Amino acid sequence: MSTPLVDRRGRWSNWGRSASSTPQAVVLPASEEELCSLLAAAHREGRRVKVVGGSHSFTDIAATDGTLVSLDRLQGLTAVDPVTGLVSMRGGTRVWSIADALERYGLALPNMGDVDRQSIAGALSTGTHGTGLAFTGYSGIARGFRLALADGSIVTATPQENPELFQAARVGLGAIGVILEVTLACVPSFVVRADEHPVDLSEMVPNFVDLCRSEDHVEFYWFQHANQVAAKVNTRLPGDAERTPLTRRQLLLDDELLSNGGHRALCELGRVLPSAVPSLNRFATKAMASRVYADRSDRIFVSPRRTRFREMEYAVPLADFEAVFAEVMATVNGYKDGITFPLEIRSAAADDTWLGTASGRESAYIALHRFVKEDYAPYFAAVEPILKAAGGRPHWGKLHTRTAEELRTVYPRFDDFLAVRDSVDPRGVFANAYLDRVLGAAPGRA
Ligand SMILES: Cc1cc2nc3c(=O)[nH]c(=O)nc-3n(C[C@H](O)[C@H](O)[C@H](O)COP(=O)(O)OP(=O)(O)OC[C@H]3O[C@@H](n4cnc5c(N)ncnc54)[C@H](O)[C@@H]3O)c2cc1C
Repeated sequence: MSTPLVDRRGRWSNWGRSASSTPQAVVLPASEEELCSLLAAAHREGRRVKVVGGSHSFTDIAATDGTLVSLDRLQGLTAVDPVTGLVSMRGGTRVWSIADALERYGLALPNMGDVDRQSIAGALSTGTHGTGLAFTGYSGIARGFRLALADGSIVTATPQENPELFQAARVGLGAIGVILEVTLACVPSFVVRADEHPVDLSEMVPNFVDLCRSEDHVEFYWFQHANQVAAKVNTRLPGDAERTPLTRRQLLLDDELLSNGGHRALCELGRVLPSAVPSLNRFATKAMASRVYADRSDRIFVSPRRTRFREMEYAVPLADFEAVFAEVMATVNGYKDGITFPLEIRSAAADDTWLGTASGRESAYIALHRFVKEDYAPYFAAVEPILKAAGGRPHWGKLHTRTAEELRTVYPRFDDFLAVRDSVDPRGVFANAYLDRVLGAAPGRA
């Protein structure tokens, strides 16, 4: 059974418990017509509407005091071309359902993020990404949209038809229109071999960029005060390559007990015994098992995340990674509190989206996490200036303090995006406090 969108008092909150709101109404349209008439009425009457996906953004990007809409009843594949790999699906489709649906066509998503609870439209709208220098985030593989605009009209947007609208919708922040359908460039299905092992910090940091160039997908986790990192190096293999998945026992022991339940216990212990955090973190690095296994790609890319946390993530130019990360490490190690959640480091290819965090430049991602029961704000505030000074771009769905004036300086196409937003939603039907901060108010609302 799916989780209700609002609690008994009518309050919506996100996965990370870092954003909440009380919508006036909650609607799960059963058809596109129902959604479009809802939009047309809101447009006429000057009301606000916000579509929510999996509520997995840490920012208040999906919060609204207007009408909260979920597309959970509008899911599934709508067209598949096994020859070109072009796959169309409804915007509400949950990412976790895509791999199974594509399997019968011998196709797969080329890359994925850490979790798959999002809706595909939510993932696209915030620039969700995984790791791998030859791969983009989801928006980089978007080839076309069918959008419901703020006035309830439906338009197609592709590189040929309404190209500006297409570009804006690729990482649209929920500000451009409701993604009814998206077409993605998928690839022949493949197996991934994961090699997880500890590496000395002094070896990983200077070699990270080279490693990202020589391996398919590289990421590492570094805990405050630890002198080793937990590395995960994934290699792509043909779809018929031998699969050696983790056994149920390994899954239970490594992923549930050590990574989820065990890590939660460690976070709780760190809260009551801050002086133990350095030792706990060294233990946590070692507890992240050394193991090699191979399985269908989505089963390797995605891991369960059952201990709630809050996250800030910035993309910085890949070439600057070593220097930026050294500064971040020094600040994290010198931070007054013990931090029991690791930093996660990934990379992505440059893409040609307008507001994607890797737009126009190869990027390294530096993500900080903090346990849900602890105050994330001062910790993130200690590190954010370093990432900002490095020309960093914050993930749209993860916590940050940047405003439109600042963001304009790191996105060359920022004003092009705004021009599209202002033309398709001048009255700010899709506006909320977050969009007002990061984009500025829609002209009809200012
Ligand atoms: C545990 C966890 C792990 C994560 N791992 C990663 C990761 O590995 N990589 C990464 O990049 N991010 C990651 N994220 C962040 C997450 O992927 C993004 O915040 C993503 O937007 C969440 O998708 P969602 O469906 O939950 O969207 P929501 O948070 O519900 O909404 C996000 C935005 O999308 C808009 N939206 C939703 N549906 C539509 C639609 N149909 N049309 C138009 N706009 C729409 C909303 O209005 C809102 O503006 C993680 C988050 C969590 C909580």
